[in-house]
Amino acid sequence: MSTVLSARELTRHYTVSQGFLKPQAVVKALNGISFDLSAGKTLAVVGESGCGKSTLARALTLIEEPTAGALVLDGVDVASGSKSDIKAMRSKVQMVFQNPYASLNPRQKIGAQLSEPLLINTNMTAAEREARVKEMMSIVGLRPEHYYRYPHMFSGGQRQRIAIARAMMLKPKIVVADEPTSALDVSIQAQVLNLFMDLQQELGTAYVFVSHNLSVVEHVADDVMVMYLGRAVEVGSKQALYATPLHPYTKALLSATPSIHPEDRKIKIKIHGELPSPLNPPSGCAFHKRCPFAETRCSAEEPLLREVGGHQVACHRAEEIN
Ligand code: SF4
Ligand code: MG
Repeated sequence: MSTVLSARELTRHYTVSQGFLKPQAVVKALNGISFDLSAGKTLAVVGESGCGKSTLARALTLIEEPTAGALVLDGVDVASGSKSDIKAMRSKVQMVFQNPYASLNPRQKIGAQLSEPLLINTNMTAAEREARVKEMMSIVGLRPEHYYRYPHMFSGGQRQRIAIARAMMLKPKIVVADEPTSALDVSIQAQVLNLFMDLQQELGTAYVFVSHNLSVVEHVADDVMVMYLGRAVEVGSKQALYATPLHPYTKALLSATPSIHPEDRKIKIKIHGELPSPLNPPSGCAFHKRCPFAETRCSAEEPLLREVGGHQVACHRAEEIN
């Protein structure tokens, strides 16, 4: 399977003001994330709100510039690329945001908004652009008359279809979707997820699909990366990860999602407390204050991601507790 995007030790730190006369603090939002995304496949990124998954999505699309690490697309490290590398990258990697209301221009008709990527990146005539936009609108389940309407005339689900059509307009190799269904009514979510899956079948697009919802991820993912406080704590195929989660945090997330084969899961793990602040992360394993298996070593030494039983896990005790 050919790799379309490789992230190597992708990192994003930024400084924030803590108030008058106080020193600035460093937020370590993303710490050394590495993965290979295969053509036409979906890598799902899961974790609680604040774990860094949206920062990862924005770093992958260079909306936020990584502070270290590499992002290799077609043999070019775009994280440290030239302006022209980055421009070329923009047509190959597109993003779908959580909130379809915020991602559309309220003053512009849908047809014009969908034509824009074609106007900027192709030499198509106006008639060709209109034909291509209407074709894409029909693929995502919109009608030709919608071309002349404004965003406020659509439902939330329709607006997300419009955002997906816009992301797909240049047939990108990769779409990064950040919680694309979580602002929608539950009844609409499945339709939009199915649209993502149909488009992947039809166009061969690879997805990085960010979600806090493991039921959603089970529907769309090929591989899964579980993030905790800016780090990957477990990475593996969906089958391996859902059937035999190794990291206590992954186990806890799955225990909290009763709709996913609860009968298969022998151990139920509950986590307590809040996600610690990335301004002041715990020493050693960042999960140690919430982990029922923590021992002395856990607060002293940071566990690195390593191969255990066919997936990768960052836990000192992965073998003992499984
Ligand atoms: Fe728990 Fe220790 Fe494993 Fe961290 S390294 S997940 S604290 S057992
Ligand atoms: Mg988020």
